[in-house]
Amino acid sequence: MEYWGKAGSGLNFHPHYSAIPLLYYSMPPLLSLTSLHISIEGKPVVNGLSLTVRPGEIHAIMGPNGSGKSTLVNTLMGHPKYEVTGGSAEFHGADLLALPPSDRASRGLFLAFQYPKEIAGVTLRSFLFAAYKAQSAVRGDLPKIISPIKFKKMLEEKMKTLHMDAAFSERFLNKGFSGGEKKKAEVLQMSILQPHLALLDETDSGLDIDALKIVAEGVNAMRSPAFSAVLVTHYARLLDYIAPDRVHVMVKGKIVESGGMEIARKLEKEGYGAFRE
Ligand code: ADP
Ligand code: MG
Repeated sequence: MEYWGKAGSGLNFHPHYSAIPLLYYSMPPLLSLTSLHISIEGKPVVNGLSLTVRPGEIHAIMGPNGSGKSTLVNTLMGHPKYEVTGGSAEFHGADLLALPPSDRASRGLFLAFQYPKEIAGVTLRSFLFAAYKAQSAVRGDLPKIISPIKFKKMLEEKMKTLHMDAAFSERFLNKGFSGGEKKKAEVLQMSILQPHLALLDETDSGLDIDALKIVAEGVNAMRSPAFSAVLVTHYARLLDYIAPDRVHVMVKGKIVESGGMEIARKLEKEGYGAFRE
């Protein structure tokens, strides 16, 4: 915390964290993408994308279907289907693309899937416990809870703050879950694993307003200088509850415009037509 100085030190302050002076912007970026090119089965999908996410920032990426949003976040997590054909990606100052997905996760990268997989026979609780044990073994910033009883208690507390019924965690992972329940399970996983950078791929799509608020609360509850997020979304609705620091519009594999919430508003009013390359 000594990086960020003290309130009243005469420096400017970050809009969300009054105790963090602007010096914080001079900290090294958490994620730095430079002219990234990505192909799927030989077809170029992401075409020279650059993006910088600093500690504590929430970014939104909006864009029409097929613009490469899922390709981008899946590639960052290390999905083998995607081939990086150019550019670079640094996370915590390390070459992200050189790391296997497990190392990306153990350094605090997290992806909430657009289409979470179902696993019969594994309860949500035992899945989360296994994930938590694996992460806390390699991450110094997570308390090492070994006992299943202690974990259950921690899980129940998290679920309470996210307005989820405790019985939810005793169901098989995503099996028979509604669209909204799958997304809530992703948010619960995020809040348990406490990533440094969460990539949320349309975690808001198909949600009713109550589920949407739960997702937003899950993200907002994590807001701190140690947590950043990239929210992929179609709609400005989620952003009304989360208030991102930056909004980017992605079209045909490139960021064509970046700014604040006014961009999301413009999209809502005028559609993507206003943002073609
Ligand atoms: P978005 O998430 O923005 O909707 P995607 O990243 O899912 O976009 O897809 C980007 C493009 O890549 C689309 O044109 C899509 O059809 C194509 N694509 C996705 N998966 C494959 C695949 N397995 N093989 C070929 N093309 C694919
Ligand atoms: Mg997608």
